[in-house]
Order: sequence, then C-alpha cells, then structure tokens
Amino acid sequence: MANDEWTHFDAALRVAPGEKARLSTRDPLGEAFAPDRAAAEARLLKDAEAIDLLQDRLFAEGRRSVLIVLQGIDTSGKDGTVRGVFKACGPLGVRVTPFGRPTETELAQDYLWRAHAACPPKGMIGIWNRSHYEDVLVVKVRGLAPAEAVALRYDQINAFEKHLAENGVTILKFMLHISKDEQKRRLQDRLDDPAKLWKFNPGDLEDRKSWSQFEAAYEEALTRCSTPHAPWRVVPADKKWRRNMLIASIVRGVLEAMAPQYPKPSFDPRAITIT
Ligand code: ADP
Repeated sequence: MANDEWTHFDAALRVAPGEKARLSTRDPLGEAFAPDRAAAEARLLKDAEAIDLLQDRLFAEGRRSVLIVLQGIDTSGKDGTVRGVFKACGPLGVRVTPFGRPTETELAQDYLWRAHAACPPKGMIGIWNRSHYEDVLVVKVRGLAPAEAVALRYDQINAFEKHLAENGVTILKFMLHISKDEQKRRLQDRLDDPAKLWKFNPGDLEDRKSWSQFEAAYEEALTRCSTPHAPWRVVPADKKWRRNMLIASIVRGVLEAMAPQYPKPSFDPRAITIT
C-alpha cells in the first residue's frame, strides 16, 4: 500500500539535528498538512490498521523494538494520541508507560533509571506518556534540581538514546504542539463536562501561568536533543484528528521502513501431520 506522503509530513515536522526548533514559528493548527477532515480520518483508519499488522510482525520477529515518546503540555492530547493511533493494535504488543511525579524510590536513583526500566523489550512498541524529558522541562521550570545538574542532562539524554538506538530500539519522539488558546478551551471543557472533570487538576493552571517558561524549556530540549538517531517531530495538535493522522502516518512509515519479518520456521510445515 502506498504511504509515500508520510515522508513529506516527516520532513516538515522534523527538527533538523543541529538546527533550532523555532517552536514559536511553527503553527499548532497545521491546516496545510490535511485540509480535509474526512480524508484525514479515513487515512488514519487505514494507517492504524497497517500499524497493527506491522506490530504483529515486529512481535513475531522479536529482534527489535520501537519507542514512541509523547511530550506536550497539559491537554495537548497525549492520551488521545495513544487511543487514536494505536486503537487497532492488539494489546499484547504495545505497552504504555506514564511518567508522573517520581516516587521516593525513583528519586533515590538517577533520573534515567526509570526511563531505562520502561524501555520496550524486543518485539514490543513502547509508548511513553511524558518521559525522561520531564527532567529538562518541568524540573527546569520549577527548579526541582540544581540548574548545573539540569544543564548536563541534554548530552546525557542524547548519549542514553544513542545507546538505545545502537541496541535495537527505534526511537520516535513527538512533541504535541498546541496553542495557549486551545489549551484554554480544553481546560474549560474539562470543567464543563462531568465526564471530563476528573481530568481537571487545579495544578495545571499553575503550569499555564508559566507558559512562556515551558515554551523556552521545550525550545531548548527540542533543539539540543533532536539527533540523527532520535529526531524530534513537532506535531500541530490543535486539531485532534489532524494530530492523530500525522503521527499515525509517520509511525506506519517508520515501521514499514523497518520491514519486520515473520521468522522462518526451523521445520517444514508441510511435513507435519496433525493427527
Ligand atoms: P498527565 O498530566 O500527563 O495526564 P498526571 O496528571 O499524572 O498526568 O501528571 C503527571 C505530572 O507529573 C505532570 O505534572 C508532570 O509535570 C509531572 N512529572 C513528570 N515527570 C516529572 C519529574 N521528573 N519531576 C517532577 N514532576 C514530574
């Protein structure tokens, strides 16, 4: 099945290694990528099904894994992306890990310890809802670690990800980029809708007050940690359907390029008679 357009999306969304992310110049709406909602939704369905088939091969092959990192401020749609892009996947081969506030045990280790422990085993797709990047985002903005320690982390993260890439982990990092206005709408929606109220956390309003500091922290992380082995993609995320379509097309494209194969049996199935 032809899926060539994904390379165009990928090139446009990618933060070129060595170049500035220029988050403020990137449009969170991204209309030009997919002007038509119905067409985007139809494409998403196809891509989600293709991802399921590829994931089955990846699992059967059992030699490599895929790590999908989802970062974005509150309400940017990390959970919705998991649901939308991987909805067709069997739960066996996909593992979602949320990165919340570190526990006492986690804080007693270095910050990459919990990330390494959450890496997908061979054959699996691991999806991180937030990630080790929180340690250069919220930790930096809130001053939760000394600035000198945080300053060292970008190189440490690059080395960590290179290590993973060299050991069979294909890393896909997506920053879900929403506008401040869209966040306001989504937060208000949570307050107004009884089925969404549980998601409202008054602490999110504190982070919203620090919008520009978070933007600056993202700019630095995306710029310094977009590498050839683990590039960042900034995904316009004001429209959920467009966000899901773009991410699914890239995930599918990367999986197709990996071309996972079913293993060859060590026996001749035609020679076997089941009695
Ligand atoms: P989400 O907001 O992603 O739906 P939660 O409501 O559980 O999920 O929020 C997770 C919170 O944990 C976020 O506010 C995030 O900033 C915080 N967090 C994640 N990693 C760290 C970290 N390393 N240090 C401090 N806070 C962190």
